[in-house]
This record gives sequence, C-alpha cells and structure tokens, in this order.
Amino acid sequence: MNEENNKNIISVPSILVPKLKGVGSTFFNQMLEHKTKIAHTDIDTGRTETYECILQKTIRTSLAMRSKGIKPNDVITICSHTSMDCFIPFYASFFIGAISASIDPKLPQSDIVHLLKLVSPKMIFVIPESIEVIEETLQELNMNAQIVVIGKTNKYLSFSEFLLPHPEENKFIPYEVTNLKDTSVIVFSSGSTGLPKGVCLTHYGLLGLLYQLRYADLLFETSILTYANLYWISAVAFTPGCMKYGANRLIASGCDLHETWAIIKKYKVGGLFLNTFQMIEMCKNGRPEEADISSLRIVVYGGAPTTKEQNIYFQSCFPEAVMQYGYGQTEATGTIITFDPMDPRDLKLMKEKPASVGRPIPGYLYKIVDPDTEKSLGPNQEGEIRIKSDFLMNGYYKMDSFDVWDSDGFFKTGDIAYYDEDYFFFIVDRIKELLKYQMWHISPVKLETILHAHPAVHACIVIGVPHEIDGDHPMGVVILKDSAAGTVKEEELQKYVDDQVGYHQKLRAGIRFIKKFPLTASGKISRVQTKRDILEGKL
Ligand code: AMP
Repeated sequence: MNEENNKNIISVPSILVPKLKGVGSTFFNQMLEHKTKIAHTDIDTGRTETYECILQKTIRTSLAMRSKGIKPNDVITICSHTSMDCFIPFYASFFIGAISASIDPKLPQSDIVHLLKLVSPKMIFVIPESIEVIEETLQELNMNAQIVVIGKTNKYLSFSEFLLPHPEENKFIPYEVTNLKDTSVIVFSSGSTGLPKGVCLTHYGLLGLLYQLRYADLLFETSILTYANLYWISAVAFTPGCMKYGANRLIASGCDLHETWAIIKKYKVGGLFLNTFQMIEMCKNGRPEEADISSLRIVVYGGAPTTKEQNIYFQSCFPEAVMQYGYGQTEATGTIITFDPMDPRDLKLMKEKPASVGRPIPGYLYKIVDPDTEKSLGPNQEGEIRIKSDFLMNGYYKMDSFDVWDSDGFFKTGDIAYYDEDYFFFIVDRIKELLKYQMWHISPVKLETILHAHPAVHACIVIGVPHEIDGDHPMGVVILKDSAAGTVKEEELQKYVDDQVGYHQKLRAGIRFIKKFPLTASGKISRVQTKRDILEGKL
C-alpha cells in the first residue's frame, strides 16, 4: 500500500482478473465444470439439484425466454422468496444477455410500483402470493409485461412449462460480451439522495469480486448458507463464488435465525453469510448448548454499523470460525473495505481494532475528503470516503448519475470515515439521506412526500434516530402551518404516514414539532444539523 502524500490517495496494487467473456458464459462453463456436484439444497424439503441439473434448467429457461421475445439488454424481474427455482431465471438472464432487476415480495406496493416503473421489465417471474400485487402494479403503470408464475397458476404461463425439453438445448451457446463494463445485473438501492434507483453492476464487477477477496477460498468450498433473496446485493454478489467453487448453496424460503444453529449442524455448513441485523438476532442469546458448529470455517457479516463490543461478542459466539466483516455498498458490487482473514497480520489487528471495518482491498483507490472544502485528508481525520475502481457500477439505470462522482472521478459514498496509521478504516456517520431500518433501505424523500401532503404541514424532513439493534428509526421533523398549530397532534401525523407505508418504513421514532430548521450555508434545511440538534436535545 502506498500513499501519495500530496493528495492523500490510498491505493492497493490491482489484481489480475482473467479475460472472461461475461457472466453468462462464465457461469455456463462453471456449471459444466462442476456437473456432478450439488448446486443447491432446499433445507425445507431436503431436495438437492446438481450443477448439471441447474445447467439444463437454465438452458431450457433461456430458450423459452428467447422464444417469448426476450432479447439482450431487456430487463426481467424476479419477485420471489428464495427457492431453487427462483435462481434459474436469474442465471438464464445472464445466459441470454438480458438484465435481471429483482424485487423482494415483502416490499410495499408503492415501492414495487416505483421500482418497476424505473426498469420497465419485459417479463416478470412471480410467486403465486405476489401475483395480485404485480397485476395491480402493471395496471397502475399501464405497463405490459409477460407474467410467469413460479408455482401453480390457471391464468398465466407457468414456469414449469419453461423447463420442458427443447430440441435446441444441446446446441445452446451462452451470450458473450465484448465489453466487461456493460451492465450485467441491476440491484436496487437508495443511493445518496432521493428515491431508490437501479444500480447497474457490470460483468467485471461481479466476476472480479472473487479475485479481490481472498477469503472466497474459505467461504465457498463447502455448503454455504445465506437467507438473502435476489433483491439484495448479498445474494447477487454471492453467486459468482458459488459458481466458481461449485459450492452447495443452502436454500431456505423463510429465515428463522434461531434455527440457524441447528441448520449448521444438520447440513455441516462451512460458510455462513448474514447481514448485521441477522447476526445480532442469531447471537441474541449466545450459542445454544446443543449447537455443533465444528464444520463452520468462516462467518461473514456486514451491511450496517456494528460496535466494538458487538464484534467482540460475535467472535465469542463462533470461537473456531474465522470472522469476516467489513464495509460495503451496492454501488461497489458489495465490499469496499474489509479484513483479510488469510493474512495473519490482519487477524491480529482485527482483534486489536475491533471497531475498524478493515483495510483497503485490491483494485480500489481511496481518499477521505472534507465535503465542504473538497480537500483530501490524511490519517485520523474524518471526512467522506470516496473510491475509484473498475469494480464500481457503471451508473444508475436510465438516470443521470453525474453528481455521485467528484471532479477526480471518485465515487462519493456518502459515508463519513477516517483511517489510522495502519490504514485501518473506521466508519463514523452518514452524510447521505439514506436510512436503514434493519437492512431495509428507507428513502426519507418518500416519507417526506407523504408528510408534506398533510394539510397541517408547512415544512418537514425525515431523519434517522440511531437504534442499537435496528439501525435507524425514522422520525418526521415538522414545522406546522400557523393555522394548524395546536389543532393536530404528533401521533395523528405519525399515523397518517404509517397508514400509507410498508411495515419497514414506519415512523418508528415518531414526529417532532419544531419552530425553525437549522440551515446550510446555501440556505437549505441542514439534515445533518437537524439530526445532531435533535439527538443533543437542542431541538
Ligand atoms: P447497501 O447499498 O444496502 O449495501 O448500503 C450501503 C450503506 O450501508 C453504506 O453506504 C453505509 O451507509 C452502510 N454500511 C454498510 N456497511 C457498513 C458498516 N460496516 N459500517 C457502517 N455502515 C455500513
């Protein structure tokens, strides 16, 4: 690692990513290579499928999608909990050069409307429980998309028809790309400002991951468990590792974290990948007496802040396993900073600096910048963390992403951090609007738009009140119209918003009435100062 003193740019020597021909052809070859290995196991039923089996299903699905008119660069959507079948159209999208943009069936309808409007999918794979919401969404948007049901249906195409033998299946050739910086998949994220966006991840970003992170050798060699469905970056970013190493992906339709201890024992799980909130839940009561985690080689978690105490505590729950955590973002195809558990120095420092998220990884340039002056800062100075790398997204789908890059071409993460003399990074705060309740993105703009529509509201913003377990609890900070003062109560406004949003987006920290907002130098409401003043009891 070296630092150019004048600019305070930190770089780690880049890594060599082999010349691949895109995600589709890479997955195709890897499925062939691991033919006889088990590709996934449904832990609800115990059913397994080999890589040969998923290859055949993926080819048939690819051919069926093509015959229904899906072409390279068309968007398809998968709206499903995790199941063996939901992965097949995901793989097939790469095989034919289409782009998947998946949604979580637990999202509120208003979010589904927003996301589908953004990407206009040509085909939607959906579980029976979500057909109605998809139908209503398409109607509201006046949008046409072919619906394919993963399960029973009398009305639409059934996914099982896609799996029927096809005369061309033995001659199938997967789609190849000439430019690895092309979009391979879209993952939705809230970005720094405004409403959620479609993050366009590249072929290079997705395939390069494995060459960047040395712990892949530990994680993917045996059975691995993660609960994320394809709406989440973790499930998407997890896939190249499964394919490269021929891992057995354990699939659970639900997520009972307390059952996880038993699942590890039963399926001899070697790699466990949880988000921070799931980790907190799983370890809430410590490790049960009867747990047998001797198979577990590595536990990876991240996606939200953890305290020094939490990191130490998690390590004590899995004493024999390597613990891997870090800092990342959807726009960076996942990891930005982490520990390298294959490096004895890192393992030692990880114990000495449990509040750190780790250190820079290959293929990235980093700088810490004072966002007010744009000056790059040295060690132990807090500022916005900015990054430059070939692994980053190529932009937001059909949207201008100009303002997320600075004048040197660095991506503005919207997170505040500092690094120490050993180049270990510490995440301190966020300057962007994004809030996270557990792992769910919350766009304050969406809640503010609802709040603004109330006739008593003159001005408002929504801030995140830190919560030890959940991350952020949204709070509406409101100036009432003079005519409404005294006539409306905080609880009334809170209910007004909560009635219109999904479970994850409720104003869990309530409403605060104030008389005046602190302003930025340019006269806008200062979110940062408002939050600070509220937390310090000044507002
Ligand atoms: P996502 O795009 O959903 O992965 O969310 C990325 C955001 O989550 C980051 O920009 C941070 O604000 C937050 N985040 C992720 N990992 C960490 C971490 N280890 N510590 C603090 N915040 C984190």
